[in-house]
Amino acid sequence: MNYVSTRGRVDPVGFAQAVLMGLATDGGLLVPASIPRVDPATLRAWSALNFKDLALEVIGPFVDGEIPRDDLRALIERSYAGFTHPEVTPVIDSGGLKVLELFHGPTAAFKDVALQFLGNLFEYLLARDGGHLNIVGATSGDTGSAAIYGVRGKARINIFILHPKGRVSPIQERQMTTVLDANVHNIAIRGTFDDGQRIVKDLFNDLPFKSGYQLGAVNSINWARILAQTVYYFYAWGRVSGGDPDRRVRFAVPTGNFGDVFAGYLARRMGLPIDRPIIATNRNDIISRFVHTGVYEAGAVYQTLSPAMDIQLASNFERYLYFLHDGDAAAVRGLLDDLQRTGRLAVDGARLAQVREDFSAVAVSDPQTLEQIRHTFEASGYILCPHTATGVWAARERPDAICLATAHPAKFNEAVQAAIGRTAAAPPSLQGLLEREARCVELDATTAAVRDHVRSTLDVAVV
Ligand SMILES: *Cc1c(COP(=O)(O)O)cnc(C)c1O
Repeated sequence: MNYVSTRGRVDPVGFAQAVLMGLATDGGLLVPASIPRVDPATLRAWSALNFKDLALEVIGPFVDGEIPRDDLRALIERSYAGFTHPEVTPVIDSGGLKVLELFHGPTAAFKDVALQFLGNLFEYLLARDGGHLNIVGATSGDTGSAAIYGVRGKARINIFILHPKGRVSPIQERQMTTVLDANVHNIAIRGTFDDGQRIVKDLFNDLPFKSGYQLGAVNSINWARILAQTVYYFYAWGRVSGGDPDRRVRFAVPTGNFGDVFAGYLARRMGLPIDRPIIATNRNDIISRFVHTGVYEAGAVYQTLSPAMDIQLASNFERYLYFLHDGDAAAVRGLLDDLQRTGRLAVDGARLAQVREDFSAVAVSDPQTLEQIRHTFEASGYILCPHTATGVWAARERPDAICLATAHPAKFNEAVQAAIGRTAAAPPSLQGLLEREARCVELDATTAAVRDHVRSTLDVAVV
């Protein structure tokens, strides 16, 4: 399987190279040159598989023999062994509401599904092909801990995660800083999340530093993350349809960087019989406005009760633009030029009609989010996290929809408390964090301070 850039200016690469490259070298995103199709008989057969066996089938064609099947099987096995639910991503029926629980991994948010796999994949490829990877990233909360848990203790990999000191929740901070493996380096910067992102961008733009120190990224543009997330759409369809290829189901997906919902789009393009996904955004509604008007234009970023969705420019959106334009990289470049120059891009009427075939979208306010948490709790006793609640609200006219639960409610207990006057009980992975030993350095929010720290750490590190 060849991978090409959405901007068309990279020679096709194989799966391993696409995973290690992350962002394409022309600034685009890597996508498979063609999307494998799954026929109805295969779908029926897959519906009988457990999550791990299914993952091997769904992911296999995209790896296309670059990793021997038995190795890929072992890698998938390791990635999901730490999930606390035997089904990995179960579909729960709570008083008629169908919820696809994606939060049974080590950090209690759905990003574990992809980052546990990506961490093992990195380790495997580096051991096989040689080299080291030094991951540098900035987090506002959830991604940092999921990335750290994805690579902790892995050979040939170091990870540096910047978080804004005092500006992430105590649980989120402790989830990161209590991981004491020698290859994990937490940095609290005296500044904001935007400072952290700027510093990381500066480091990646410092090309001698980047190549000299083998910097790598784990943000949601890595194709392997999309791939791992596609699996649970197939899995959930199998649970609800019983494997009948004529049974269509619908998903509601809380959306920030467009990664999760793009995985659903991919599953549909592969032939999974699902209706267009319902996109839920919070007040940061750029994607929802795009689906309604065909215009993609960033506004201010608002803080909401669903912080993992407080995003304006969605990094995976470019992949969708590419498929919407039937792989016409020149058209994608033109649209992104528009966005760069004028702050907006617009698709034509025929494309907009296609967008509306592909998705529906609803922007959900904070009061609506709280109302949904309250309503669901009163109806069935089930507690939604605020991100999940946006999806449930968006699907309320489609009671048959499967709603993706992207985090455990105990990670966002302030919102839960505000909605229902009590908190959700923490799963074991979130218990006792405040008492555990923590390790973190504190630095000024400057590129020079962080660069010096990364350099001095790696110059002495034995990995
Ligand atoms: C990251 C995240 C999202 C948004 O997912 P995208 O793939 O960025 O659209 C939603 N909910 C939670 C809890 C998250 O951590």
